[in-house]
Amino acid sequence: MTTLVIGGGWSGLAAAVTLVQQGHAVHLVESAKQFGGRARNVTWQGKMVDNGQHIMIGAYTQMLAMMQLIGVDTAQAFQRLPIDLAIHHPNYSTLQLSGKSRLPWPWSLAWNLLKSAGLNSLKSLVVLQKDIPRLLVNKDITVLEWLLDANQPQRLIEQLWQPLCLATLNTQVDKASAQVLAIVLRDSLGKDEPTADLLIPTQPLGSLFPQAAAEYIRQHGGKLSRQTRIADIVTEEGQISGAITTSGQFIDSENIIIATGPDQTAQLLTAHLKFPRPSQTPITTVYLQYPAHYRLPKPLLGMTGTMSHWLFDRSQQHPGMMAVVISATGPHDTMSKEALVQHVCMEVHQLLPDFPDKADEGFVIREKRATFECTVANHQNRPACKTRIPGLWLTGDYIMNAYPATLEGAIRNGEQCAKLLLSHLTSSKL
Ligand SMILES: Cc1cc2nc3c(=O)[nH]c(=O)nc-3n(C[C@H](O)[C@H](O)[C@H](O)COP(=O)(O)OP(=O)(O)OC[C@H]3O[C@@H](n4cnc5c(N)ncnc54)[C@H](O)[C@@H]3O)c2cc1C
Repeated sequence: MTTLVIGGGWSGLAAAVTLVQQGHAVHLVESAKQFGGRARNVTWQGKMVDNGQHIMIGAYTQMLAMMQLIGVDTAQAFQRLPIDLAIHHPNYSTLQLSGKSRLPWPWSLAWNLLKSAGLNSLKSLVVLQKDIPRLLVNKDITVLEWLLDANQPQRLIEQLWQPLCLATLNTQVDKASAQVLAIVLRDSLGKDEPTADLLIPTQPLGSLFPQAAAEYIRQHGGKLSRQTRIADIVTEEGQISGAITTSGQFIDSENIIIATGPDQTAQLLTAHLKFPRPSQTPITTVYLQYPAHYRLPKPLLGMTGTMSHWLFDRSQQHPGMMAVVISATGPHDTMSKEALVQHVCMEVHQLLPDFPDKADEGFVIREKRATFECTVANHQNRPACKTRIPGLWLTGDYIMNAYPATLEGAIRNGEQCAKLLLSHLTSSKL
């Protein structure tokens, strides 16, 4: 009995890997030319870049475990660095969220915060951290409500919590789920040092997981079809019987995992199920090519009070290349690509006067539906993997788990969905 997986993003691939690893037959169909979905390779002037700059952290334990399972050498695939973020703001001195110090974790983090933002900021961070257990057992509120309840100073809100919330939840503090942010903080900064480590990919995203996962599935007898779009799923007597491609081909299957993004899933389910389609929000990445010798003082700089949010040094892959990330919506959405490149170049120059005010080349990628908006309501309504239609399962970063839309969430859900399906098949045989 072959399970059909619709969608070859990180979640669909993780589901298919888990199924074939257990000896289960799989056919994975992907509408695009390549696997990877929202975390894939793009070519710019002959150079392989990511469709959007991604950052992973040591807390992505299931992502790392799955990569190891399929034979990726994670020590080679990532440059693993202790968290070391410098967050700049036009009105405040630079805040250091950094584990770099001779002190052991978490004292190193506390010491760097104390030095860069003062005792009041450190005390406020401790207050917020201590409030996490209480927050998690109560009704969810917005991040801003939580920050105000916990008397966070304006500086910390502007210079730390707003940028961290945008970076991790891709949602503004006045809408974002406090419980999701709290879990992100607990599982990254609140544990031992390795969970807070930054994992900087040394390879383009497509080479990091999707290509290796596809190879693993193939080697374990799975079938892969690219450039094959599913138009609809088919049920017989209320049970899954297969799917139809846009070219009219019927694919016979009693079990289907839909692993597409929420909009495409909503489309596929229109005639079959009520689906709580979450609102989605963009991420813009601006790649800037400077002369080869340019480097940032740290691999990652935070920028606040500017249109640019994060500045990444991509020199390891392409000497002199920087990536500027702008989360969520804002005035940058309506700017022409040329004007946006010019604007972010100027902001980089203002922050780092050694950088020229113009890059040699600039390239803008706007991912309009980068992630679901991690609002209180969207988080509450995240659907489960199992649906009420026998044989129909869902996965993707938006499916219910404790995390926002991340690669870790996509992989966790994919693996979990495959395991639930397998245990369901085993129990129905008994
Ligand atoms: C610019 C950007 C930056 C990001 N930054 C980070 C980050 O720093 N850290 C982090 O952890 N996460 C980040 N994310 C989020 C992360 O990329 C996603 O959470 C993850 O890739 C989602 O994977 P998925 O498999 O759930 O969905 P998708 O990647 O959307 O996969 C769905 C797949 O289904 C295919 N498909 C759709 N419809 C059909 C159909 N009808 N038939 C067949 N196939 C179909 C699509 O082509 C796609 O390949 C970022 C995302 C973007 C866009």
